Amino acid sequence: PVTVGVLALQGDVREHVAALEESGARAVPVRRARELAAVDGIVVPGGESTTMDKLLRAFELFEPLQEAVRSGLPAYGSCAGMILLADRIAGGIEGQRTIGGLDITVRRNAFGRQVDSFETDLVVEGVPDSVDRPVHAVFIRAPWVEEVGPGTQVLARVPSGEAAGRIVAVRERDVVATSFHPEITGDLRLHRLFVQIVSDRG
Ligand code: GLN
Repeated sequence: PVTVGVLALQGDVREHVAALEESGARAVPVRRARELAAVDGIVVPGGESTTMDKLLRAFELFEPLQEAVRSGLPAYGSCAGMILLADRIAGGIEGQRTIGGLDITVRRNAFGRQVDSFETDLVVEGVPDSVDRPVHAVFIRAPWVEEVGPGTQVLARVPSGEAAGRIVAVRERDVVATSFHPEITGDLRLHRLFVQIVSDRG
């Protein structure tokens, strides 16, 4: 099987490790540059992007991770992970940096305070039969994608309500990101999609 790392500085690491293992990958936590060098793909979990940014620098992992993603290491980010994989950020804190990899502008905490957390069903491009069996998406102080570059594929939009039409899942080459948290719902289809991307590359 392929080996997929989960960035393990902060956030919901265990949930991603479990979902990846159930999706047929070998999943390993990554805290050091040498651990990063040993994986075929990397997951950046949900959590708090500002904290992860600081920890990435403290662990001297910021540049190695940026370099790895730039060189084509497949990456999947959920929620805070989406923010970290975005080339541009709106609503970040002073001095907040991102790893980048996706030619998108992401808006942090985009859905507003009154809807800190919400759930909805989504059709996600590339997820088998999500038209008949939608992906149940859980959003927790989530970002949305405000702008996508010409090479970025939109995988999902919010179907209805105040945020209708907002982009919440994207892919560019082998980099995927979702505003929501499939790792906590038991639906493995997004993790399987990512494991497939990693396998196809090897
Ligand atoms: N609001 C968080 C951030 O800015 C993301 C929340 C999450 O990952 N659940 O990083």
